[in-house]
Amino acid sequence: MFNKALGQHILVNPLIAQGIVEKAGLKQTDVVLEVGPGTGNLTMKILEQAKRVVACEADMRLAAELVKRARNANYQNKLEVLHGDVMKRELPYFDVCISNTPYQISSPLTFKLLAHRPQCRCAVLMFQREFALKLVARPGDPLYSRLSANCQLYAKVTHVMKVGKNNFKPPPKVESSVVKIEPINPPPPINFDEWDGMLRIIFSRKHKTLQANFNTKVVLEMLENNYKTYCSENNLMLEENLDIKQKIFDVLESEGASKKRAQKMDLDEFLE
Ligand code: SAM
Repeated sequence: MFNKALGQHILVNPLIAQGIVEKAGLKQTDVVLEVGPGTGNLTMKILEQAKRVVACEADMRLAAELVKRARNANYQNKLEVLHGDVMKRELPYFDVCISNTPYQISSPLTFKLLAHRPQCRCAVLMFQREFALKLVARPGDPLYSRLSANCQLYAKVTHVMKVGKNNFKPPPKVESSVVKIEPINPPPPINFDEWDGMLRIIFSRKHKTLQANFNTKVVLEMLENNYKTYCSENNLMLEENLDIKQKIFDVLESEGASKKRAQKMDLDEFLE
């Protein structure tokens, strides 16, 4: 009856649904985006408190069921159901996002929400426990990763509650957690592709030094090519006898970063 490929694990504990909605701190003027409303257990609670809900559901059968359920409760004027894959569409305006997310799109959905403009006030999202713990991990925590640094660059992220498997039907294989993501306003003026490219290199082996992570054939070749492109696009003279390895080591050394390890570095150190 439930579609595994779409991550359909219905939240059947009304107290948890209530707790999630409370954590969002909804105002009566809020437009709420819900991703994957399923049969509407969360949706009905959101509808009680928000001005409007826009719910995006990939499963046509569930979307139709939800419309019927909202009509029976006289909420049809407050609910808009968008049918389709949330990752393939432009998001509408929303103040708050609430979702018991389909776990297979956790990461792209998080960054889609963070990239959305205007920024939302917050997102309260259910994730697999390990993914949630990665989002909130701090420098030095075993789960601290590129995902943690990328998300925390743009938002304050807090762990809200643990949710056991048996609160879902059918129960998923793993435990879950709810996190609250509050985007930093205004967002830092950073070229995300460059930032993420750098983090990919230094988190590739997060316990190794930065110098060691930059000192691999693949990275050195890539950076040499990037540097040449950068110089040519900006009309800069390329040094004769360019030694990209030495150039990178000099930069790391001048920032006192050669011996640092990503696992223990905070956002300010990455920004430097
Ligand atoms: N919100 C409901 C609840 O809490 O009981 C259902 C949550 S269930 C974990 C995930 C829901 O997301 C399912 O209804 C599924 O059909 C829907 N879904 C899966 N992938 C989706 C996608 N790419 N875009 C929109 N909805 C999706």
